[in-house]
Amino acid sequence: MTCHDYKDLMMGYLDDELSAEQRGRFEEHLAGCGECAKELEEFKRLKAITDEVTLVEPEDRLWHDYWDNIYNRIERGLGWIVFSVAGILLIIYGGFKLIEELIKDPTVGFLLKAALLALIVGLAIMFVSVLRERVYFWRKDRYRDVRR
Ligand SMILES: [Zn+2]
Repeated sequence: MTCHDYKDLMMGYLDDELSAEQRGRFEEHLAGCGECAKELEEFKRLKAITDEVTLVEPEDRLWHDYWDNIYNRIERGLGWIVFSVAGILLIIYGGFKLIEELIKDPTVGFLLKAALLALIVGLAIMFVSVLRERVYFWRKDRYRDVRR
């Protein structure tokens, strides 16, 4: 089982819905995986906040909406990371292919070659910047809805 497979168990673990066997398996993984242990702490903290909210508004629906939200955000955040990394790789790869062609072409001037290189590097930097911005806002976003 990979870390990803433990995510469902983590939700069950937090809600105290696991069988003894599942619980044991999950705790065993936690002991050896700092990443999941850290994530569990994060979720516990969020759960503590939500428990306060559910005391005020004790609706099951609210609780489920809340977890759905978290999953959506995690998925969207991951989607952005994968998308951005792929974008950077494609730009760099495509850029070098293009430049390779242009450098071999003696009719293309040096200035144009330099400008194209700068353009490609600039695009790659922009992608990294957008990626970092997304991750930053995504992190902040995760907590915003919690405080209602
Ligand atoms: Zn793990």
